[in-house]
Amino acid sequence: MLSDTEIIHILTRSKDATAIYDDAELHIRFVNDAMLHIWGKDRSIIGKTLEEALPELKGQPFADLLKNVWATGETYQATDTPATLIINGEVKTSYFDFEFRALLNDTGHTAAILHTATDVTSRVLALKQVAEKQQREEQLVEELSVTNEGFLTANNNLLAVNHDLLISNESINRLISRLQESEEDFKRLMAQAPVAILVFRGPAMVIEMANAPMLEILNKDESVIGKPLLEGLPELKGEHAANLLFDVFNTGKPLDGSEVPVRLIRNGELEIRYFNFSYQPLRDENHVIGVMDVAVEVTAQVMARKNLESIITERTALEQNLRGNEQRLQGILDTMAEGVIIVDVDCAPIYANPMAQRIMGMSQQTFFDHKYNDMKWQNERVDGTPMPMDEHPIYVALKTGHSVYDQEIGIVTPSAEKIYISINAAPIINDRGQITGGIVTFTDVTNRRKILQQKDDFISVASHELKTPLASLKGALQLLDRMLPDISPEMLTKLVGQANKSLNKLTDLVNSLLNSNRISQGSFPIHKTTFNLKNMIDDCCQHIRSADTHTITLKGDAELSVCADEQLIDQVIVNLINNAVKYAPLSKKIVIKIERLDDHAKISVTDFGPGIPPDKLPHVFERYFRADYGSVKFSGLGLGLYICAEIIEKHGGRIGVHSNLRKGSTFWFTLPLDA
Ligand code: ADP
Repeated sequence: MLSDTEIIHILTRSKDATAIYDDAELHIRFVNDAMLHIWGKDRSIIGKTLEEALPELKGQPFADLLKNVWATGETYQATDTPATLIINGEVKTSYFDFEFRALLNDTGHTAAILHTATDVTSRVLALKQVAEKQQREEQLVEELSVTNEGFLTANNNLLAVNHDLLISNESINRLISRLQESEEDFKRLMAQAPVAILVFRGPAMVIEMANAPMLEILNKDESVIGKPLLEGLPELKGEHAANLLFDVFNTGKPLDGSEVPVRLIRNGELEIRYFNFSYQPLRDENHVIGVMDVAVEVTAQVMARKNLESIITERTALEQNLRGNEQRLQGILDTMAEGVIIVDVDCAPIYANPMAQRIMGMSQQTFFDHKYNDMKWQNERVDGTPMPMDEHPIYVALKTGHSVYDQEIGIVTPSAEKIYISINAAPIINDRGQITGGIVTFTDVTNRRKILQQKDDFISVASHELKTPLASLKGALQLLDRMLPDISPEMLTKLVGQANKSLNKLTDLVNSLLNSNRISQGSFPIHKTTFNLKNMIDDCCQHIRSADTHTITLKGDAELSVCADEQLIDQVIVNLINNAVKYAPLSKKIVIKIERLDDHAKISVTDFGPGIPPDKLPHVFERYFRADYGSVKFSGLGLGLYICAEIIEKHGGRIGVHSNLRKGSTFWFTLPLDA
């Protein structure tokens, strides 16, 4: 058995680094050189605790591990463990395989710890280097694989891009071919378009395309294509339509024109043509590169419209003229003194002018509603017999197509008054010679006819009036002739008196006729003198007084004088007195009154005879008027009162009558006193 010393000696020389701790505080009991070398310490550390001897181990696990071994009695082994120590004043980390072996006493408690260690730094470092290298290699491999992946991705991307490129290329090719197709389509479209199309390019407006209709409009051939506008079509220089093209190019704004006149050469001459056009700017992205002109020639329409306009203007003028004529005609019809009635082809009135309405006393509507057979309006011939419809001038005109002139007819109106009208009737014939209606013009000839009637009556009355004294005169003269020479003086006186009386009567009648004629012609002179009325009336009453059939009472202002034609006023008074005697033979009294009324003298002659019917009163001063007194016949010509009225009127006076049937009449007249 080896002694402790020998063992220690061996341990001391052992190349394996060894240390022994003999208590729980890890006091170093033994340490050999190899361990001191590792620790970088010398033998002075023996007897110190591990922590005192190697303070740099603080923070490293060894002290705790050792204490744990002490406490547990379990050995602890580790390899390649780094330990940082201060060697020769330098901090140095080395690697160790070590063992902390608990040396147990008999009671099983730790009596000491044997610490052996081998410096494996070079091995660890070598291994580390290998590991690092390996790690680097792995890293490199990893990086490489990453790079590889990148390459792969890039490659994939490239493939995708390539694929895309191929696709794009294909679509570009397709696009190009479609573009080519559409350009061809466009050209075809242009060529076939029914409208004229012109495409210009560039600021000089070079004609790039012009289809056939456009070339026809421009009267050019294809040689203009490729030429600038104003070079190819110099006649457009200054034309508004051409200027607008340049405007569209410069502004980029599209423009439409309607019925724009353009002067173009036709058959060597400039002619104005009209176009509807649309100018569209052609763009390359944002730049205007040209203009497209789509035009439709509307010359024919414009000319037709202008023609229509001129026709309308002409028609308007004609219409105005017509209206003017119509108004004039209306004016004439309205103011005409003749009645005008227009009838349709069936003879129904369609127009009646105001005079027609006045003459007939019918409103226009009554005319429209009127039927020929209307009993209220009976047409008569002038002889008073009914006039059948087919004899009426307008029916004759419509039937024969010939005009009828100045035919008189009588019409019995609803008031039973008969009027006479003189009718002209003419058919209205259209361009085709058809009768479309008729026009009737007529005048009221009632008065004319009445006067004629009166004249006829007058002639018969006058003849009758003349016949009586003539017969009496003739009888007296025949008796004289027969009885001569043995006639007795008494008979001679009687017959001469009868002849004289008849002659005077004849003279009076002839004078009346002459006066009436002179008066109606307005040609009787007035010789005024101032005379006393009472004296003048006294004188002209003499013949009555001497006849002694009536008593005449003269009343009133005996002093009143007037300035007038004494002879004519005498004639008036004689006439009034004679009428009083003639028409009131049974009444014996006649009163004559002279009055002064302001600036007039009024003379009235009153009889107490039968009076005058009220409906006759307004007519007694009319020429040839004679009232009919039934069974009693009075001689006379119906001229006396007419002559009186004319005389008084010529003197500026008035004449009138009051009459009461069966009581008598008062005829009066006035004369101005200051005349
Ligand atoms: P004539 O010659 O018929 O008398 P006048 O002109 O003198 O014509 O009279 C016209 C008519 O007036 C007469 O026919 C008569 O009917 C009527 N007349 C005139 N004077 C009287 C009178 N005093 N009384 C009644 N009737 C009269």
